[in-house]
Amino acid sequence: MRIAIDIDSTLHHYWDVLSRAAERRFGISLPYEEQVTWGITRLRPEQLELCIAETHNEENVLAGRPYPNAVQTIGRWHGAGHFIHITSHRTPASYPATEHWLRRIGLPYDELYCSRDKVARCRQLEIDVLIDDSPLNLMRAAEHGIVPATIVHPWNRDLCEEEDVVFGRDWFELERRLAPVLGTASSTGDLQPPPDDPGAAQADPGQARKPASTEPGLHRPESEAPARGERRAQRRRRQPGTRRAIDRARAAVRRRAA
Ligand SMILES: [Mg+2]
Repeated sequence: MRIAIDIDSTLHHYWDVLSRAAERRFGISLPYEEQVTWGITRLRPEQLELCIAETHNEENVLAGRPYPNAVQTIGRWHGAGHFIHITSHRTPASYPATEHWLRRIGLPYDELYCSRDKVARCRQLEIDVLIDDSPLNLMRAAEHGIVPATIVHPWNRDLCEEEDVVFGRDWFELERRLAPVLGTASSTGDLQPPPDDPGAAQADPGQARKPASTEPGLHRPESEAPARGERRAQRRRRQPGTRRAIDRARAAVRRRAA
């Protein structure tokens, strides 16, 4: 399969870098848990642009620390023969530093793309799965028959609960949930979606991976989390959608092979 993977907030925890730039330049904080929409309204557009440019300078790009199991998962996918397209909404000027960073963290890939219209490039490359935290990109990908997948963040949580998005709270969970889409075993050997309940995992910390220790706020605070019964109902509602997305991806692959 052909997999496109975003960088910021997908391969590493970008939010803190952006928030630090906003704080330093304009004295404006951007609390992660309060960022429940895609738009950043606390900064004016020109302020936001300056902050984003700062996050993509060489020093910041090279300082990025990949999320646990991200590099390992992608390495396994690449080793299994999947095409890996790394895509980032950053200017071409950031390309050399980004390339350097990918080499430094040991992430294997087939193409790196630094530009604005990710989904258009995904369509050119006949990408099957897009992993990206942007709700806009996820929805656009789905419209074009590309399976949308993401690491869960406050700004895409609602989309994950309502739409056909394959999601994981971390790269361990995302790898497991994408295993049936990609037809590969995850690092835990799962080929089928695990019978896990995200809510149940939260209720039993012994069962849960702990992704949030270096990524504060990746989980919804317990007080805001839906009740366990509601979470089960959400999961039941979501699963047929995920299956449809998987079926669509497999049909696309079959059509291409025909
Ligand atoms: Mg991103």
